Amino acid sequence: MANVKVAIRVRPPTAREGADGGKLAVQVEDKSVRIQNGKLDGRADGAVDSREKLLEFGFDYCYWSVDPADPHYASQEEVFQDLGVLVLSGASEGYNVCLFAYGQTGSGKTYTMMGTPDSIGLTPRICQGLFRSEDTFPDGQNSSRVEISFLEIYNERVRDLLRGGEQKKKASLRVREHPEKGPYVQDLSQHVVSDCKQAMDLLEEGIANRITAATHNHDASSRSHAIFTIQYTQAILENDRPSETVSKINLVDLAGSERADPHYCRDRLTEGSNINKSLVTLGIVISALAQNSQMSSSCQSINSMASEADGSTVGSHSSSLSGGGGGGAGAGGGRRHCFIPYRDSVLTWLLKDSLGGNSKTIMVATVSPSAHSYNETLSTLRYAAHARNIVNKPRVNEDANV
Ligand code: ADP
Repeated sequence: MANVKVAIRVRPPTAREGADGGKLAVQVEDKSVRIQNGKLDGRADGAVDSREKLLEFGFDYCYWSVDPADPHYASQEEVFQDLGVLVLSGASEGYNVCLFAYGQTGSGKTYTMMGTPDSIGLTPRICQGLFRSEDTFPDGQNSSRVEISFLEIYNERVRDLLRGGEQKKKASLRVREHPEKGPYVQDLSQHVVSDCKQAMDLLEEGIANRITAATHNHDASSRSHAIFTIQYTQAILENDRPSETVSKINLVDLAGSERADPHYCRDRLTEGSNINKSLVTLGIVISALAQNSQMSSSCQSINSMASEADGSTVGSHSSSLSGGGGGGAGAGGGRRHCFIPYRDSVLTWLLKDSLGGNSKTIMVATVSPSAHSYNETLSTLRYAAHARNIVNKPRVNEDANV
């Protein structure tokens, strides 16, 4: 059993956010984040408005990346040393690992996951780390294989980001389920790589293929969810007996969390509504799992969240209750558990194992420090706090009969 580990990262203020004095709503101290609604500060009568209360949340990691001159500034390397190293150690032990970035558009998801050419992020660092550890295997005893795939979910359709040919690039792929290995994407291309450079080339090719569009607060933000998957197979000779471990590393850059808000960007309803579906369902799945792990007997708050967010029921299963259904905590002693509606969106279906299943999972929630983003930041912190309650059941994926 392992709880989802949750990290918060606060990015630097943008020029616009800094223009009017740069009032900050967020503070970080050790493993806690405090948020205060700065817009309500300074009431002339000195009265305390209940909304002015400082709210505090505890997380596994908190990164203050607001000002490089600050002694507490968390660099890309520091984030990697915690989260990237967790991913690599989990994979080398034979576990599935998932790392996903969640947050408002422009809050730093892509910077954290991919980085910039001058300051590379977690995904390239994890690839480097994987091939570095390869060098440490003694010759002839152990061997490993690295395969990469890269897909995006856009409008609830899955697209292969590493397929040659215009026709193939556009094709939408089907999600199917293997009885033992779980959900997978049929015909998704897998690319064997033998060094870090080949992995980086694939990462760049896929990024170039992602659909991007301007949004109201960030010019080149993607509306799609991108999943970069590294399948890491290690053949090990243990006491002269061959065995194999296969770990899947899912590195996920989600679309902006404001897309779970039905009031956002009404002129883009077609795209928006579909992207909402995956994000809204992700929220419901996270809440239901968190609730199950706390052994609650009611799904009411989750169902009301679904209808508030979407104006309708997101999926046919959302309101049902079952004993440990869909991979939630097991049915025990008459306790009732929320049904987990994984199948209601492509994203949650594909990440089923990462959410409450066979995976070590890390969420990095990115936020703006600015008082202007108070509402979005508070909602991200609440979402992240829910995710922290999810209990996964990772196991080493070992096959001793190879
Ligand atoms: P998102 O993927 O959430 O839409 P981005 O990662 O594109 O957001 O970040 C928005 C802008 O802020 C980019 O210009 C990015 O380089 C910058 N940025 C984000 N996080 C950081 C950080 N931790 N340090 C420096 N710049 C950052």
